[in-house]
Amino acid sequence: MRATLLHGAGDVRVEDVPDPVLAGPSDALVRVTAACICGTDLWPYAAMPAGSGPARMGHEFIGIVEATGAEVSTVKKGDLVVAPWFISDGTCEFCREGQYTSCTHGGMWGNGPYDGGQAEAVRVPFADAMLVRLPVGADSALMPSLLTLSDVFGTGYHAAVAGGVTAGSSVTVIGDGAVGLLAVLSAKRLGAEQIILMGRHKARTDLGREFGATDVVSARGQEGVELVRQLTGGQGTHVVLEAVGTRAAYDQAVGAVRRSGTISRVGVPQYEEAPIGPSSLFRYNVRLAGGAAPTRAYISQLMPDILNGTIEPGKVFDTSTDLAGVPAGYQQMADRESLKVLVRP
Ligand SMILES: [Zn+2]
Repeated sequence: MRATLLHGAGDVRVEDVPDPVLAGPSDALVRVTAACICGTDLWPYAAMPAGSGPARMGHEFIGIVEATGAEVSTVKKGDLVVAPWFISDGTCEFCREGQYTSCTHGGMWGNGPYDGGQAEAVRVPFADAMLVRLPVGADSALMPSLLTLSDVFGTGYHAAVAGGVTAGSSVTVIGDGAVGLLAVLSAKRLGAEQIILMGRHKARTDLGREFGATDVVSARGQEGVELVRQLTGGQGTHVVLEAVGTRAAYDQAVGAVRRSGTISRVGVPQYEEAPIGPSSLFRYNVRLAGGAAPTRAYISQLMPDILNGTIEPGKVFDTSTDLAGVPAGYQQMADRESLKVLVRP
């Protein structure tokens, strides 16, 4: 089959690899019908150390079950299914608490023995726990929105849930990438009253307004923080959802959060050290929340409103390609020419 491999920084190739086979009784084989490129794929695309590749790529996909192991009971051949971005067994003490990304048998697509989603097919471990059936056909117009349940929508939603967004909250969202925009949609869904989106790309912030942003701040750093404070009577917002992952974005979050508020981070931090002391978090009881999003927990919560047309998170896809176009898709996203690329293998 054909699969996407990252050989080094800037070097993505679609190559022939061995067809996946059932390796254990809990496995399923899934023929991928829709996948996508993630903002987090751009970190290794920008800076993968020489000699550490090649790596299978892709952690968001929908597909049709082709075969199942002897123990698989919740999905069968022919089912259309979505898989979450993180591999979990569904049975350990953390999975039973809904903390799937803390699974004691957890893993990542494209790491170790696991296939990547930007491919023609994938071996799915723990299939009963991982795969959720979709009650539509593979040609449904809802496919882009359903695909966001793998990662970006669930991750934006996790930011809002972990940040404690509730009816009447004021919220700042840092970042106008797909996760930031879906954090806006999520904050709106949870009843936020004021949603300030910090982003600089007009087409993206326009979509953010459509998703529920009440204000847009295009300035960054201290200037951006001042504008957020002007929009909030000088106090900042109850919750800041940080969907970028840089130290600069963290500092912006510290500047924009209200006293006794919460900073919730879902952008994968590209730093280990940042201020948490008296002048940043401690003095006014600011909480730091968020982390790797257990999107498996949110799939069934968020799916009904996609199916009934209430929300359309799939609007974050502005480009579509086949597998051969994946390398160009990486470059388009890295150049900010594409917000998010849908892949139809
Ligand atoms: Zn587990």
